[in-house]
Amino acid sequence: MSRIKDLIGRGDLERVFVPLLPLFPQAFTYIKGELLERVWPAVKAILEENGIDTNGDRDALIRDLMKEDPVELASEIDSDPFKTLIRTILSARSKDEQTIKVSSALFKHYDTAEKLAAAPPEKVEEIIKPIGFYRAKTRSVQGAARMLMDTFGGEVPGKYRNLLELPGVGPKVANCVLVYAFGIPAIPVDTHVHRIVNRWGLVETTDPEKTCDQLMEILPREWWLVINDLLIRFGKEICKPITPLCGDKCPLDEICPKVIVKNKPRGKTKVAKKGKESK
Ligand code: SF4
Repeated sequence: MSRIKDLIGRGDLERVFVPLLPLFPQAFTYIKGELLERVWPAVKAILEENGIDTNGDRDALIRDLMKEDPVELASEIDSDPFKTLIRTILSARSKDEQTIKVSSALFKHYDTAEKLAAAPPEKVEEIIKPIGFYRAKTRSVQGAARMLMDTFGGEVPGKYRNLLELPGVGPKVANCVLVYAFGIPAIPVDTHVHRIVNRWGLVETTDPEKTCDQLMEILPREWWLVINDLLIRFGKEICKPITPLCGDKCPLDEICPKVIVKNKPRGKTKVAKKGKESK
């Protein structure tokens, strides 16, 4: 049985990613054109195995499936570049549910760079206080808003190097903005993506930035837009940080080497012993 790294190495990405799509259908948002045509027969087969009628209109079926997605992500709320930028800065070390709540409250008062730049810092702090690190995050979001006004004409730039100039923006935030606000292929690597691709043995890295660099070399560009969204969902529900649901609950169980999985999973799986988990 080929493992994930071998499959991806020989270009058979469908074997790895397609089994996840019916479980986390919101990721279809980023699968279009030729890629959709290519993956659809295999997705259809999985849906039919699970008793879902696939004979009707494909787009309508995908839309219906998307409504059933078990995970709500901050990134999917809207694609306004300003809101995506601010929400992603706020999301550091915070749960998506909390980020969505707090950022929505913030945007009720300050929904443009101009308004946020001019807001009293104590008012911003008061609104975002529930997510923690609120003083530092206030400095970051207001600093970013001011730089957008002073340097970028009030607009969020669509270039990676310009995004990195903004306070509070590192590679992950910059890549998130490219993907979720502009639809520009990039691979934002957060803790879920980093953990999962290391468990798969696809990379062997100790920090998300190196993971990002290696993934961009390994994965074909047509999959870049999908990776972050799909793997965050998968990481929240199945390949969880502390106790991954290896075994029957994971569709990749047979092809996953489970590198650095410390907690012995329930069920039939074998656990590889290789080093220690870094995150
Ligand atoms: S088998 Fe376990 S470690 Fe591998 S992807 Fe599934 S849940 Fe994650």
